[in-house]
Amino acid sequence: MPIPSPQKSFLDAPPPRRSRAAAPSPSPDLREKALLVHRRLCAVYDCPIPYFHSLDPLSELISSLLSHRTRNADSGRAFKALRARFPDWAEVLEAPVSEIEALIAGVTWPELKAPRIRAVLLAVRERVGALSLDFLAEWPVEEARTWLQAIPGIGPKTSAAVLSFSTLRMPALPVDSHHHRVAQRLGLIPRSVDVGPSHPILRAQLPADWSAQQLYDNHEVLMLHGQDTCRHARPACGRCPLADICPSASATRPASPAP
Ligand code: SF4
Repeated sequence: MPIPSPQKSFLDAPPPRRSRAAAPSPSPDLREKALLVHRRLCAVYDCPIPYFHSLDPLSELISSLLSHRTRNADSGRAFKALRARFPDWAEVLEAPVSEIEALIAGVTWPELKAPRIRAVLLAVRERVGALSLDFLAEWPVEEARTWLQAIPGIGPKTSAAVLSFSTLRMPALPVDSHHHRVAQRLGLIPRSVDVGPSHPILRAQLPADWSAQQLYDNHEVLMLHGQDTCRHARPACGRCPLADICPSASATRPASPAP
């Protein structure tokens, strides 16, 4: 499929790598189970779920980089502090890294994230010719994800978040640690599959023609279920609407109190 390149400066850049290898086709049973999980959790968490951000894609990228292993409230505060100090992302490129680090001190690993944010912004400007990712709206999802992931510091979750959560509203499926844990316990992915490689596997279990909203809902309900019920340390299997189809239900159910 030809790749649209709306910006002339980008036409001069090397072409992006083509799509990654497709994930193995899931079995009919797994597809059916993934849909059942989606339907049941959507009934609990009330799909369609409103989008929590309406940021342009470059701003969503910065927000996503800040959010890694960080509570939403802390990364949200850091993003607002950055925005207030640098209304134009180009200003971040001129600022000392120490100032960026001080502004985002509330997130996990600010000393790593500050230089990474600058490096990613620099890479975007070099590759696109401008500090904007709006051109990705014209690209197929997998091509757009591949282009983003070619930038050091951007992984599968971040690339999917930029496309799904931003104003691009593209049909991509992010997988965070909650989503990943619930999918593992349910047997949708093997225990040996890490978060990054789980992206194409979980996406392939869902219908190819699902809209951006449907994929967003799928991510959100699995994430919410991981935060609310299928928690890391003490999953509440006793009140889980998936217990009858979950192979981990008995193994992770809290032990009965001693008589
Ligand atoms: S039954 Fe337990 S382990 Fe399985 S999804 Fe529900 S809370 Fe998680």
